[in-house]
Amino acid sequence: MEEQSMHYRPNENRYDKMVYRKCGQSGLKLPAISLGLWHNFGEDFPHQSKRQICQAAFDAGITHFDLANNYGPPAGSAETAFGEILKTDFPGLRDELIISSKAGYDMWPGPYGEWGSRKYLIASCDQSLKRMGLDYVDIFYSHRFDPETPLEETMGALDHIVRSGRALYVGISSYNSQRTKEAVAILNDLGTPCLIHQPSYNMLNRWVETDGLLDCLDDLGIGSIAFTPLAQGLLTNKYIGGIPQNSRALQGKSLDRDKLTEELIGNLRALNDLAQARNQTLAQMALAWVLRGGRVTTALIGASSAQQVIDCAQAVENLKFTDAELAEIDLLSGDRGINLWAQSSET
Ligand code: NAP
Repeated sequence: MEEQSMHYRPNENRYDKMVYRKCGQSGLKLPAISLGLWHNFGEDFPHQSKRQICQAAFDAGITHFDLANNYGPPAGSAETAFGEILKTDFPGLRDELIISSKAGYDMWPGPYGEWGSRKYLIASCDQSLKRMGLDYVDIFYSHRFDPETPLEETMGALDHIVRSGRALYVGISSYNSQRTKEAVAILNDLGTPCLIHQPSYNMLNRWVETDGLLDCLDDLGIGSIAFTPLAQGLLTNKYIGGIPQNSRALQGKSLDRDKLTEELIGNLRALNDLAQARNQTLAQMALAWVLRGGRVTTALIGASSAQQVIDCAQAVENLKFTDAELAEIDLLSGDRGINLWAQSSET
């Protein structure tokens, strides 16, 4: 792996196994598994490991890399690291990649460094392009709904970002179904359709079902990319024996270890048994579950190693469930109060 990452040559068979799905009614296809750079791409993580993760993803047919202005730490450093990786490892491959970024959360001091004003979104998009060394991103998102800025202004900024050549498509993240309908109507009027919605979704966080967002996106013909499909690692074999050293939960990053009750660990073990009976790892089954029925276009994973990416990419080998399996999953899972983004969708 070390040798490979120094002189990276993409796998010639990279498109053979991944599944590509149309994003809503658009002409864009996305890989069923996408890679996000929220964690493990900051200055606290070795650059060589970041390269290995991106290379493993591309080799497995993962063409979509998801970023945001504030990914790090420090904020911005994930985009800087990814820009370097694009230069060293992906020269000449820009047209095979779908790269996204977002603005909405706290990025710089003062009143213009967060939320949804035109001032903030356009400046932030320019900063992201500079950090990544790109002329344009494929998708630019409003990262969260801003209750204090007219939606017309936020959507107008997205429209301008596309018309000025900074992005090819736009999306929204964590907007509830009512806000989504409003945002989509404004974007349609402006002539820049909404490509995609990015909500959190996994077996332990089902707000998109209760809010009606998935139905709403179906009706609107908009694709979706589900973030934290592994519940930040809970829905993998990582925690079934307790809390390991090299985990988010132990490092107290964004996963609260108090959520890992004995009861939940017992259920995770039972889910792991079910996954094994399907010849899958628990991570693979959790991803297949999010993708079941084709309503979610792509599952947006994070990873701390190339091996995790390889494991996740193989989820596409079995995306079907029997009714009995789905019923058992429902018995063992359900909402666990782990949706850190709930406030954004409630406002
Ligand atoms: P996730 O896929 O639910 O969790 C990723 C973590 O699960 C990894 O860091 C790793 O934990 C563990 N893992 C992954 N694959 C594994 C495997 N095969 N076996 C065992 N463990 C495995 O997703 P996430 O990283 O929380 O979020 C994914 C992406 O969603 C982000 O990078 C970002 O692009 C996007 N996101 C968007 C928003 C938004 O507001 N729009 C918010 C959050 C995230 P360890 O690191 O502990 O090894």
